[in-house]
Amino acid sequence: QAGVSRSVAVATAYLMKTEGLGWEEAYAAVRAAKPDAEVNPGFQGQLKLYEAMGCAVDSSSALYKRYRLQMLTERYPELQDLPREVFAVDPTTVCQTLNTEVLYRCRKCRRALFRSSSILSHMEGSGPAAFAHKRVTDSAQLCVDGRDKCTSYFTEPVQWMEPALLGVMEGQLLCPKCTSKLGSFSWRGEQCSCGRWVTPAFQIHKSRVDEVRTLSAGNFQAAKT
Ligand SMILES: [Zn+2]
Ligand SMILES: [Zn+2]
Repeated sequence: QAGVSRSVAVATAYLMKTEGLGWEEAYAAVRAAKPDAEVNPGFQGQLKLYEAMGCAVDSSSALYKRYRLQMLTERYPELQDLPREVFAVDPTTVCQTLNTEVLYRCRKCRRALFRSSSILSHMEGSGPAAFAHKRVTDSAQLCVDGRDKCTSYFTEPVQWMEPALLGVMEGQLLCPKCTSKLGSFSWRGEQCSCGRWVTPAFQIHKSRVDEVRTLSAGNFQAAKT
């Protein structure tokens, strides 16, 4: 049955790519040709992601990272070792930050914490209304950086978070150098100040970090010490 589901998913993805169809249209077309064709919810999620990424798989896109984390979360209670690839490289261990990227550092001790490429942006919820409806929000606006209502950055997990994340469902995120509180995480998800639920959530309060626009060699050394 899984094999059938997979071949239907592949046929659907093929139609999306070649015919420019949305996943639901493509799926309907496959089912019209083969009425018993069915894809399981896991494949449906992947097809939606594929559509959202413009029918190309980009493993560095925020959509892909968020999807991968969501898949991981479904298995999480049994998971004691997280796949290495879900963690962003610790910005203090390698000097590969692009000039176009923004680096975020602990406001207190200046330790480099994450790069702008690790921020997983979300649709901004509509404030109090979003809280009232909890997870169901009709009107939402895209907020690219979460500049307005969002008081936290939601990121992918970064390597320095790993000891805090393993074996527990939620907890605090502390600076690995000065141990000041930076934010929190929850594999079940947390609600952003804008009202949007983010699952899983790794959030760093904007007030606890500073943006560093360009990273010269001198700054990098300072970040390492
Ligand atoms: Zn938000
Ligand atoms: Zn610190």
